[in-house]
Amino acid sequence: MSGSFVSHALASAALVALVGFTPNLAMPAIAADEVPTQALDPAIVAALARVKANELREIDTKLVGFGTRNLFSEGSHNRSRGVYAARDWLSGQFGDVAKTAGDRMTVKFDTFVQEKTARTPRAVETSSVYATLRGDDPTRGTIVISSHYDSRNSDGSDPIKDSPGADDNGSGTSAVLEAARAMAPMHFPATIVFVCFDGEEQGLFGSAHFAKMLKDRGTVVEANLNNDIIGASVGHGGEQSPNDVRLFSEALPADAKPGRVNATGTENDSPARELARAAKAIGEAYLPTMHVNLIYRADRFLRGGDQESFAENAFPAIRYVEAHENFDHQHQDIRVENGLQYGDLLRYVDFDYVARVTRLNVAAAATLALAPPAPVTEIDNRKLAYDSTLLWAAVPHAQSYEIMWRQTSEPTWSHARNVGAATTATLPLSKDDWLFGIRALDASGHASVVAFPTAKTK
Ligand SMILES: [Zn+2]
Repeated sequence: MSGSFVSHALASAALVALVGFTPNLAMPAIAADEVPTQALDPAIVAALARVKANELREIDTKLVGFGTRNLFSEGSHNRSRGVYAARDWLSGQFGDVAKTAGDRMTVKFDTFVQEKTARTPRAVETSSVYATLRGDDPTRGTIVISSHYDSRNSDGSDPIKDSPGADDNGSGTSAVLEAARAMAPMHFPATIVFVCFDGEEQGLFGSAHFAKMLKDRGTVVEANLNNDIIGASVGHGGEQSPNDVRLFSEALPADAKPGRVNATGTENDSPARELARAAKAIGEAYLPTMHVNLIYRADRFLRGGDQESFAENAFPAIRYVEAHENFDHQHQDIRVENGLQYGDLLRYVDFDYVARVTRLNVAAAATLALAPPAPVTEIDNRKLAYDSTLLWAAVPHAQSYEIMWRQTSEPTWSHARNVGAATTATLPLSKDDWLFGIRALDASGHASVVAFPTAKTK
């Protein structure tokens, strides 16, 4: 760092002699403020060790064993086959988890009649299962770790033929249940909800109902980590990617005002995107072999996921997906055609990989649930200035705050400076040229998601 500073200073001196003006020397000094390495919390490390590939395999094997988990198999009065048999088994599993959490965890169904849509043959009772791990601080919000447990084959409305859904989405559902097991013994200020949705495949029915219910109740959803298709480490073309996962986040929240976005340059700093950046940084700190690849879009082309239901209610929501998909193994009848095996079969799921993605979820959710909430932040825009002043509201349990910044064209936060317990700070950098945010840290170093400022105009 000092070497580049010297060479920059020398170059600057030469430039002054040549053209007679002084370049801004504050920049290289400011560049020394590197984002600190995440301190690892031994309690979170222990929780990650409780996530086991063999347990994930057992869960997914059980789910596949229900034959089909198609939404329209709900009428089957069969304890061993169909979506409700799977739901009841999941509920029992969450019930066992609850016993390890004292009286802090409750298990419920979110059941409702979904009306017929253009894509469905009839109205259908839809039932998601969720476990709530109550936080210790009633002023804190809720973090939702989700998946969908329903499945489909080539015909989205077929309740009869097998729809194993081992990867889509037995993998994500195994992750949610295993995350609950790993986290239930811990105490968090924030509440954590572990939810497995029904009716995803026909139109995000379960999550739409659930996210709206949370909105109507006034629940503050601080984060939704959605897991959908996180099981395969080999792609359609044979690509091996056992250490890569994609993390999707939307560009603009549902309540964004395009005029304001264009004026202030916030199109790459939605709450979902800040959540994705935080989840990547935390995840890669705890699992240094993993690459969490940020994808700056809401979801893949022609596909969606339950995080979109949360986004629709203006909750920050992100989705984990395996790095390389194989569409022959999704939404397909089990069959061999021209020597090619179709179907979403267990044999294509790599449970060591599912375990790693589950640990990314646990690391991110646990850190954010332990950290203070993100502070409401403003950037002073009351006058023209050559520097940047930020102001933020103090949050409970914050021991210090960090200003984060980066160039407007940089994808992730590249600089940080801890300003102690202050609730305002000025940096000698032009607010026209940089992006800024604030995060809150507790005494142990758990950091909140970065809060992106709105403009303070009076
Ligand atoms: Zn899915």
